[in-house]
Amino acid sequence: MKHNILIFISIILASQVSFAKRVKFHHGKRVVAGEYIIKLKNPLISSQKVSAKTTNAFISKARGRHRLNAVSSYSGLNLHHMKLDEAAIDEKPIEDQIAEIKENNPEVDYVEPNYLVEKASATVQTQAYTLSQVLNFIGSGYGMTSAAIQAQNTWPLVSGAQTVTVAVIDTGLDLTHPSFNYSIHTNLSEIASNGIDDDGNGFVDDVHGWNFVYNNNNPQDDEGHGTHVSGIVVGVGDSIFQAPSSATRIQIMPLKFLDSEGIGATSDAIKAIYYAVNNGAKVINNSWGGGNYSQALVEAIAYSYTHDVSFVVASGNMAKNNDSSPTYPASYNVPNVISVAATDDLDNMAYFSNYGKSTVGLSSPGVNILSTWPNGYYAYLSGTSMAAPFVSGVAALMKLKSPQMNSYQMKNILLSSVDQKSNLNNYVQSSGRVNVLSSVNNAINAIVDGFKPAYTVQVSMNDRELASSLAGRGGCGSIEKINQQENGFKKAIITLALLLIPVFLVRAFRNTNNQKANRRRHDRYAINSQMTLKLGGQELIGSVKTISVGGTEINTQALLTNGSVIKMTISSPDGKESIQVEGSIVWSESEKRYGVAFNNISDSVRARITQWQKALIKV
Ligand code: CA
Repeated sequence: MKHNILIFISIILASQVSFAKRVKFHHGKRVVAGEYIIKLKNPLISSQKVSAKTTNAFISKARGRHRLNAVSSYSGLNLHHMKLDEAAIDEKPIEDQIAEIKENNPEVDYVEPNYLVEKASATVQTQAYTLSQVLNFIGSGYGMTSAAIQAQNTWPLVSGAQTVTVAVIDTGLDLTHPSFNYSIHTNLSEIASNGIDDDGNGFVDDVHGWNFVYNNNNPQDDEGHGTHVSGIVVGVGDSIFQAPSSATRIQIMPLKFLDSEGIGATSDAIKAIYYAVNNGAKVINNSWGGGNYSQALVEAIAYSYTHDVSFVVASGNMAKNNDSSPTYPASYNVPNVISVAATDDLDNMAYFSNYGKSTVGLSSPGVNILSTWPNGYYAYLSGTSMAAPFVSGVAALMKLKSPQMNSYQMKNILLSSVDQKSNLNNYVQSSGRVNVLSSVNNAINAIVDGFKPAYTVQVSMNDRELASSLAGRGGCGSIEKINQQENGFKKAIITLALLLIPVFLVRAFRNTNNQKANRRRHDRYAINSQMTLKLGGQELIGSVKTISVGGTEINTQALLTNGSVIKMTISSPDGKESIQVEGSIVWSESEKRYGVAFNNISDSVRARITQWQKALIKV
């Protein structure tokens, strides 16, 4: 009975929050209709920085010429997530829109559609079990799989106070599940629920990961897949079925980007990867895939390689050869990518698993895996989604025992520590299935060599569509830029710049298209006061420069999203009182800036602003 109620509730929730984005197809792959990821370059010398002027001029031109609106911008990367006006989406084929943007704007490095990706499970969960039911059928055994991966025998080797953080980029995590009592990553530099971005990383109250679907600090799982995957990762280092131990070695950083249907946008995956690398994860688990080749995504993975984070990926569930028909992100050839196929309890290839002698590293159990499920339950699932997290867990334990080892050497040791199986010879590079104990032992005994091959993104935009024909094409300079970001303080600054727009002057105006209407309707006054700004789930602090009864000009480091409604609390010039106002962010053609205009302010707020203006100077 209880199960029926739960299923009923989850159906209601799913129908309420079903994927809101419109879908189109591009070269057979799903994309978010009208959305593009655009990277800029310096139009004169491509190796040089893109100036703020070039960026602003481009956003303005994109609006006027192409009816493209900035959704969000990553200024440190010159990367812009943009969306066509609703009315323009169906006017032209996607390739024509891309060609038009490129041909007319020499400062555009590349344009790509925002591909949709999805969870890589091959089965759906049909029955959930309580802990006591689970303990009845597993007894004191390992329980997750009966394949001989030697997880339990490894646990005595990895005891101790140290922990390693694994980012799980997925549907989120059941944060209150008892099996995760001691294994959820906590950002110790952030004070919970104080509405302040204490550590200045651009995310307010990000104590336990982040939700990139709804842009808030609650990565609670509304699907189940991420909770199952996370349980497998933790379960490599400790039992998730017996009483979870406070000495657990692996901490999960839940980064939710797949929605309640297990679908997500590449733009959000990219944000999650940068978040993971910049906030202390040593391993990133990616039990998802789909879409065509994305240079923006491969650049994010290359960033994780530069920072010695292991990038573990499910090989995919289409029973195909990734060597001849690539699957992304599994087939990106960045040296820290570990692509994982699924085998069953007897080490036979799973019927659904993708394989590849050159591009899939090893296999791991992925058939009928028992792991955690939301609301304190446990369930069985199959898929390369389940195989990858075993390898993520092993990589985490190797990092725990050999913290100086880089992600390249770690991958090589992992692949040379497998249990070789003749039936896997032609399917995976290592010809074997993961062995936890051998991998950790070999990591402990290895001499850290520090060798790391250089990696340059080997792609130019025009050759994008046929990924299999990409080898040998011209590179781009992004990796050199990343290489300069190694040391501490500079890294912190760049980390901020990656995810935030540095300083936007935000100005009140009325209408973006009509020049006459652009004329100021209200007198504007210089003011120097503080404000807090609520934007989506975030609360940020800024300062107010000018004010009128129609809007305000502010300095803030908020990531401004076109069309967003924001709430602001503005202090009076003497700091003694404050007003709460709501406004909308829009691009101002006349100012060449994003702007905020107040929405229907109340008479009392209007009276307060008028009163304040008596002490201010008109500008
Ligand atoms: Ca923060």
